[in-house]
Amino acid sequence: MGILDKLFGGDEPPSTPQFSHVKIHPQVDGGITPARPGFAGGTLSCQCSSDPVVVRIGAQTAHNHVCGCTKCWKPAGAVFSQIAVVARDQVEVLENADKLEVVDASAAIQRHACKGCGVHMYGRIENTGHPFHGLDFVHTELSSDDGWAPAEFAAFVSSIIESGVDPSRMDDIRSRLRELGLEPYDCLSPPLMDAIATHVAKQSGALA
Ligand SMILES: [Zn+2]
Ligand SMILES: [Zn+2]
Repeated sequence: MGILDKLFGGDEPPSTPQFSHVKIHPQVDGGITPARPGFAGGTLSCQCSSDPVVVRIGAQTAHNHVCGCTKCWKPAGAVFSQIAVVARDQVEVLENADKLEVVDASAAIQRHACKGCGVHMYGRIENTGHPFHGLDFVHTELSSDDGWAPAEFAAFVSSIIESGVDPSRMDDIRSRLRELGLEPYDCLSPPLMDAIATHVAKQSGALA
């Protein structure tokens, strides 16, 4: 092997995953599919076999991530949810809007869930002073369209313990997240935490 190969790993086989037995979420467990360039949205359907709620998303999503909090909807058996944001004016309920209800009206994010199957179709922030006002939270796994932006990081990882995950599993779970390229954070990612802090600082006057 030449010196350049030694330095840059040209002939090295790809490293074998060591933690693929650790399940995170069906959308990432088999590896992460990149976004399709130019992809501009699609439709989400709930899991009802008849009269599903259908929601149109008119743009690619941003900040998609797996989330360990106890509030986000997740598919049966998954430890994490997967959730992204999109501008609220790009979210439109096309069918069976009458099946939607807000899960917890007192929560900052109003999660609109299907009364039939329990799936959350979109989460909306009505408080105009909230740092993320104007963005809706959506689960693009509910779409059969290909090309959505994939998960980029893992949020609220420690919170999965609140859902009953044994704390002794956390090392393996964080190792698997890193193996998938989903940096584990116990809150949100640094860009999102910075956005929140900037919003707060502008409201307080600490930043102009
Ligand atoms: Zn449903
Ligand atoms: Zn969450």
